[in-house]
Amino acid sequence: MGDEVLSIDDLYVSVEGTEIIKGLSLTINIGEIHAIMGRNGAGKSTLANVIMGHPAYEITSGSVKFKGTPLEEMEVFERARAGMFLSFQYPSSIPGVQVGTFLRKSVSAVRGDTAPSARDFRKELKSHMEALNMDRSFLSRYVNDGFSGGEKKRLEILQMLLLNPTLALLDETDSGLDIDALRVVSDGINSVAPNAGCLLITHYQRLLEHVKPDFVHVMIDGRIVKTGDATLAGKLEAKGYDWLEA
Ligand code: ADP
Ligand code: MG
Repeated sequence: MGDEVLSIDDLYVSVEGTEIIKGLSLTINIGEIHAIMGRNGAGKSTLANVIMGHPAYEITSGSVKFKGTPLEEMEVFERARAGMFLSFQYPSSIPGVQVGTFLRKSVSAVRGDTAPSARDFRKELKSHMEALNMDRSFLSRYVNDGFSGGEKKRLEILQMLLLNPTLALLDETDSGLDIDALRVVSDGINSVAPNAGCLLITHYQRLLEHVKPDFVHVMIDGRIVKTGDATLAGKLEAKGYDWLEA
């Protein structure tokens, strides 16, 4: 129990009055990588968004606990401070806000008293950006404004590395990446994974060749219909989802 980060029990979630998640249970411990796969519209992003606290998503029944605390007792900023991180499937652009400022502010807000000094922050930032193959010129650009798909996903991973989460929810962070970017993003995930619970939402097995999941879950129509080990991802790629639908 000591290393349980997320426990979801018989969860039901509605969006704009429509039930999307229909009785989903899942437990994630520190050091575990869980992949969730499923067709478009299965409810994968809904799951990630409701855990982080997006206001459009309503828990109608069931429970979600983050490190033992019921989610409804935590504001979004409290979830973030307690170590929850969500990488968006579609990161928003924020014209007028520079990447460097944005990152510094988010690290200060989330890490609070343990936030690094300006000097240490610059050092951390530099080493992470080198690892992610990001040019310094990124820092003066506006957040996601005019970024390519791959640049947006690298920025998501850079945020994750700086915030050093204990629960990383990554929603299709592998989509739209070329092979080099995929490797860089995978290295980032692998570096936080030993000290975090990871939930990877993905369509593709290719991410899972670089980031080895302990569990692969298949989501259909708001439920987990099958759970297996890493080999299940390959099977899904070969056979699709029809065989699970009966
Ligand atoms: P996935 O990520 O598996 O593709 P989503 O969770 O994004 O699936 O969507 C599941 C269903 O919920 C879809 O039918 C989608 O249209 C609906 N949905 C998700 N978010 C919203 C929202 N903010 N407003 C209205 N409908 C939504
Ligand atoms: Mg989605």
